[in-house]
Amino acid sequence: MTARPLASMSVDLDNLWAYLKTHGDPGWQRYPSFLSSAVPRLLEILGEHGLTTTVFAVGADVVREDGAKAVNEISAAGHEIGNHSFGHEPWLHRYSRTRLEDELGRTEEAIITAGAPLPVGFRGPGFSVTRELVEVLAERGYAYDASTLPTWVGPLARAYHNRTAPPRTDDDGRDELFGGFSRVLAPVHPYRWRTADGSALVELPVTTMPLFRTPIHGSYLLQLHEISPRLARGYFKTALRLCRVRGVSPSLLLHPTDVLGGTEAPGMEFFPGMAAPGTRKVAWLGWVLAALRAHFDVVGTGEYVRRRDPRRERAVTRLDSGR
Ligand SMILES: [Zn+2]
Repeated sequence: MTARPLASMSVDLDNLWAYLKTHGDPGWQRYPSFLSSAVPRLLEILGEHGLTTTVFAVGADVVREDGAKAVNEISAAGHEIGNHSFGHEPWLHRYSRTRLEDELGRTEEAIITAGAPLPVGFRGPGFSVTRELVEVLAERGYAYDASTLPTWVGPLARAYHNRTAPPRTDDDGRDELFGGFSRVLAPVHPYRWRTADGSALVELPVTTMPLFRTPIHGSYLLQLHEISPRLARGYFKTALRLCRVRGVSPSLLLHPTDVLGGTEAPGMEFFPGMAAPGTRKVAWLGWVLAALRAHFDVVGTGEYVRRRDPRRERAVTRLDSGR
């Protein structure tokens, strides 16, 4: 019997305040949280499917009581905890090296204090990655980064966290966010960054539809499902079929909002899919996970990086290659 192909999945534990912050709602400063609703529900559905995943946690949550409790419970249930920055600012690419180290270090400390192992995986908020970030991650002993979304759908990618970032000018470096790396030629397969000092860091892109490069993460699938369940099922089945044909290991990204109804996320009415009741979302997510599991062995992103076959992997020395 031959081994089934591998797929990976992860959850970005973006909290209510992070969405409000990105949206520019000053209410975020009170750090409203929906983790006590979202985390048990996520753990339940993962348990039902017998799945272990990777949960990228935000440091500013983990230093708080409910965030620490969430990380502790998630880790105790056998899932990997990754680093999703401290302040969850999608403009991480503008940070100085010192500030990046601070973002990473404070989050690592909070995660350990909460009782989980030191993280070896990182995902930047808003899919931002820079040369400096990769170097800092490699120096700190991270095994992988999972911050790229190889899509040509730039406006959608920018809308992904539905951010209304601070006003920008045309030459302000926004390109770094969704420019070269997220173009149609950016790899969907994992690859390795080689840094100046010769160390390597695996990049595991969030999978987009092979060939078409349109998103297939949970929130996008949910939006399609709200338009037409039949369309959403067909779309995801097509994505999985193309992954198999093209030899792509899908990496599915989920968020707490994929299981929460609007009343559980007050103030997030602006966010796509929040009108759908939580029960409908959970049922749909169950279908998505079952479809994924039907053809792939599904593991967390860290486990995937450990088990992947690196023989055909490209090594990338320049972060701006492809520009
Ligand atoms: Zn996030």
